[in-house]
This record gives sequence, C-alpha cells and structure tokens, in this order.
Amino acid sequence: MATDSTGPATLKLRPGSKALIREINEALVLNVVRARGPVARSTIAAQTGLSPATITGISAKLVEAGLLVETQTQRDTGGRPARLLDLGDDRVLAAGVRLSSSEASAVLVNLRGEVVATGQAPLASTSPDLAAEAIVQAVDAAAAGRASATLLGVGVAISGVVDHAEGIVRHSGALGWETVPFQAQLAEMLDAPVVIDSYANSLTLGLLLFDRSLDGRDLLVFSVATSLGASVVVGGHIHRGFNGSAGGFAHSRVDVGDGMARPCHCGATDCLECWGSRWGIEQELKRRKVSIAELGREPADEVLAAGALQLGKAMANAAKIFGPEQVVLAFAPEMNLPGLTTRTEGAFRRQYDPHYTAAPHIEVTVAAPSALASGAAYVLLAQLFTANLSGQHSNGAASRR
Ligand SMILES: [Zn+2]
Repeated sequence: MATDSTGPATLKLRPGSKALIREINEALVLNVVRARGPVARSTIAAQTGLSPATITGISAKLVEAGLLVETQTQRDTGGRPARLLDLGDDRVLAAGVRLSSSEASAVLVNLRGEVVATGQAPLASTSPDLAAEAIVQAVDAAAAGRASATLLGVGVAISGVVDHAEGIVRHSGALGWETVPFQAQLAEMLDAPVVIDSYANSLTLGLLLFDRSLDGRDLLVFSVATSLGASVVVGGHIHRGFNGSAGGFAHSRVDVGDGMARPCHCGATDCLECWGSRWGIEQELKRRKVSIAELGREPADEVLAAGALQLGKAMANAAKIFGPEQVVLAFAPEMNLPGLTTRTEGAFRRQYDPHYTAAPHIEVTVAAPSALASGAAYVLLAQLFTANLSGQHSNGAASRR
C-alpha cells in the first residue's frame, strides 16, 4: 500500500486555486460515473456541463490514478466507437476500522463501497498507544497481499464524543479517554491520511453515501451500543455542533425520582447512558446482583424495560425539537437483547400520543458488526465524490508529511 504525490491521497482543498476547480470537476465526474457507470464521456459532459476537452483531461488523470477504468466500447452519437468509463476496480481502496475496548476490526472497501478484505487485531489495553498499534496491525492484516493498491486513507469509528474536524476524541467511556488527539497520533504511524469519527456518525455516513433517497433530508440516527450516540443530519449533511458535541444525547439526564442515583462514567449521575446503553444495563444488573443471562425474565427484565422507556423518551424529546422526517434506531449486535428494540420503538411512538404532531418515519435496524468499520471507510470515499467547499477536506484528514 502506498500513497504518492499524484495519487488520490493528494485530493485536498486549496481554496481559490486552479487545483480547487480541478478537484471540484473531478468530484463531479466521479459522481456521474458512480451513479450511471459504465458511462460514455459524452454523457458525462452532458450531465456535468463540462466541455468534452475538460472531460478528456480529467478522465485521463483519473484512469491513471486507478479511480476510473475504461470498459466496453459503445457507438457514440456520431457513430464512432467510444470506450465507456466505470469506477476503478480494486486498485484504489479505503480502510475503515471499528475500534472497541477489546479489538480493532478493519475492512478494506473499493470505490463502490464493497468490502474486499477484513483484518482484526486484539487490544492489549485501551491506552491510545496500544489502540493505535492494534489499528495498524488490523489494517496491515486486511491489506496483506495488496501491495500494489493505493490506499485513500484510514477512517476510524470510535465510541464516544469525537471532534471529527479537529481529530480529537473528546470523551470515550468505552475506552476511558479524555481529550485524546488520536487522528494526529495515528497518522504518525500510518503512511496514509486518517479521519476519525464517532460510531453514530460513521454509521450515518454509510447511509448517506449509498442511499440516494436520503439526499437533502433531515434525519436523526440513534446508535444504541455499549455506549449511546446520535447523529444529526440537516439537509443531507451531518451537523457537528461546537467541538463535535452534536448528538451527545448519552449524557442527557434522566430523573425517575426513585432516589437511586446511578453514577455515570462521565463523572455525573443519572445520565441516559446509565439506563439505555449496554454499559449502563450491565452496571445496573451488577448492582442488583443479577446475571445478564437472566435478561428476558424478572427481575432482570425490569432493567431492560426501564432502559427501553428512557431511550424512547429521550429519542422522542430530541426528535420533537429537531423535527426530522425520519428517525433511525440503530442497535449494535450487543444490544439485540430480548424485546429491547420493539419496546424502545413502542416507547418512542407513545411520546407522540395524542397526535398533535405526527411521529417521524421510524426505521429500526440491528447493525452488522462490519457496518461501523465500512462507515468509517466511507468517510474517505465521500471526500472523493464531494468537493466540499465548507472545508471538510482540508481539516478532515491528517497525513504524515
Ligand atoms: Zn454521563
């Protein structure tokens, strides 16, 4: 795996320059091929409004970089044979990693978002140094035997509040991290650009990149896992908030007035995290001296029912402020617990009775373990297909120079 000065890893924003315009045009061309490929250059010109000469120049560069390939021949409108363009095969790849407290789990995806390889490495401890080492090992394991491929970069999904723009993990209960500049640390170790994001936003980026029906929509995506997280999507784009704090509903407060304060790993008490996350449910079961194997039966079931109720209420409260047309309740595999998904959805819907305002459309999913790792890789793909003028390119990736 290598990046070089002419490869796609150099697609970065240089505001106001010719390079910027070229980059925007490259993104336009790639996006047409992604949506319609295999496709003729004349069709790309018609779709983008760019001149045939510009298309010829850009496509030559993209073919050389492996981002596009020439496929079968078709007669163009003038009756001449024309080679069609399609997205590159497996010469250009992006890596994505799901970092948990016990394992780094990596995938390599091609430009179509298809997983072409996987690799895992255990964490010796959750210290940032050893977590970074495990990520490097997992990516190396996935990349074994693909030395000729170009790596766009490595995206990492991390449980917690992640400041994507600054590359800093603000708080991770699962890893026990506070203010860790993990993007820069990892970029030191990997010869590729690195982006980091929360579990919830990684999952959401995957949805946004591959489901065109979500273009321009307002959504809330709730991630229910070992920790809780949420992603706020405004007009088809993730809203980050100050210091990346948007979506931090895990530490909104719950007070049921039972006089039993539940201490949270953030230092506060009675956070939603203590009720509705896998961590919180395990803590409460431990306090009640009940095994997690007892879930689905009383008295353990009471813990789960209370968790579902608080989750549903908190999600509906957030949705009522924001007013999205769609809400996704994404449960991680470890939260596919007896009745939890249906009871959470039921609690959410009940908050809209009586129907002064209609509930948003609700989608409940149990995410595959690889979905987060793939989502993290899609952050890199999204940068290829969107020339983002808001500056996400320039501050979203750090690479070793
Ligand atoms: Zn908390």
